[in-house]
Amino acid sequence: SFGDAEAQREVRENDRGYVFHSWSAQGKIDPLPVARGEGAKFWDYDGTEYLDFSSQLVNLNLGHQHPGLVKAIQDQAGRLTTIQPALANDARGELAKRIVEHSFEGARSVFFTNGGAEAIEYAVRLARQSSGKRKILSRYRSYHGSTGTAITMTGEPRRWANDVIDGEVVHFFGPYAYRSAFWAETPEQETERALAHLEQQIQLEGPGTIAAVVLETVTGTNGVLVPPPGYLPGVREITERHGILLILDEVMVGFGRTGEWFAYQGFDVRPDLVTFAKGVNSGYVPLGGVVISEAVHEAFVERPFPGGLTYSGHPLACAAGVATFDIFEREGILERVRDLGSRVIEPRLREIFEKHPSVGEYRGTGLFWALELVRDRATREPLVPFNASGDAAAPFNAVVAACKEAGLWPFAAGNRLQIAPPLVISEEDLVRGLDIIDEALKVADSYVVG
Ligand code: PLP
Repeated sequence: SFGDAEAQREVRENDRGYVFHSWSAQGKIDPLPVARGEGAKFWDYDGTEYLDFSSQLVNLNLGHQHPGLVKAIQDQAGRLTTIQPALANDARGELAKRIVEHSFEGARSVFFTNGGAEAIEYAVRLARQSSGKRKILSRYRSYHGSTGTAITMTGEPRRWANDVIDGEVVHFFGPYAYRSAFWAETPEQETERALAHLEQQIQLEGPGTIAAVVLETVTGTNGVLVPPPGYLPGVREITERHGILLILDEVMVGFGRTGEWFAYQGFDVRPDLVTFAKGVNSGYVPLGGVVISEAVHEAFVERPFPGGLTYSGHPLACAAGVATFDIFEREGILERVRDLGSRVIEPRLREIFEKHPSVGEYRGTGLFWALELVRDRATREPLVPFNASGDAAAPFNAVVAACKEAGLWPFAAGNRLQIAPPLVISEEDLVRGLDIIDEALKVADSYVVG
């Protein structure tokens, strides 16, 4: 409870004593003990409040302790807490039906996993097994998860220490107008040249060897990179022409982040396989999965699919997923994401960009935005070097510390402050969080040269 110094000490001691943490040097971390959460906020044991602009790991779309989600889990736990996947279950079947009904034309079924990385593993296995081909093309500046093939597909430093677990993965460049790999000066050029690059890479790798191209629909942790007009339809056209499957990774952006059920619904593209996790039930119980097209599903009508998981379609997780659909509809979540993004965030970030020389670019959509921080707007030199740590990362860490000091828990990545609050955040809290960022950027401004 609040003000309970004893509890705070015990939580910290047990954590430091016994918990081995992700992505961390175990001797150099001091995780904040969290006592309570509600909606877009959480509190430590001292009662210090944090406004969560990160939705934890961009999974808490409906906020902490949403009564509808809690009740759905309690009801399911009271009825049937678990059942193995070879038996049929009401919550699992209902959730699969709702997901398919809200998916692309030709979507046929859902395979459930325990999270995002496994969803990627299974999407790739479905693609390889149904096509008889092995090679996977994925992009630089992507994150697809930390298991074998998913970490190999990842196109950023988290892969480096794990290279190479799956030798049949090849990386290519996607569009990123602000730091174009194609010397493009307009979004149109960026689209055209990124597509030409992909086409060429497919030719050189051999279209007959490639099972799938995999993309985050909107790149998440690696920068909130919204695809320029025409890019996704262009990728679809190329992959279709070469008989290659298109997998869209919607683990971070599915379920409302961009103001659509699935982000691809805003970009005129029809995928073959779609991975989801996080927002499907806000992570209240671990859940992920793959939406499967009719054609891929067909490949496993007569022969068995070689794969499975003990907890595939766990009833507690699926009950929370069904409740997510009900809550989204009842609370008009998609409408409020679009409204808050265009009416509150976009104009305010424009103002922030005009005011702070350390902001090189702002970009995003819905409740998903990034401020790219620079030392020099003219050269676009980032505030801290790529993959910086220690002293080199100090200027960016100082901005993050200023946010936390003021009660905001930011989504910090590289040289970017990213904005991804729970979709249920109140307008007042959203504005307050943007005020805190506005103030904290003075720290970044102090490092600007010239
Ligand atoms: N794919 C994307 C786009 C992600 O953002 C993530 C996690 O951040 C993953 C996959 C992996 O998901 P998980 O951490 O649930 O394995």
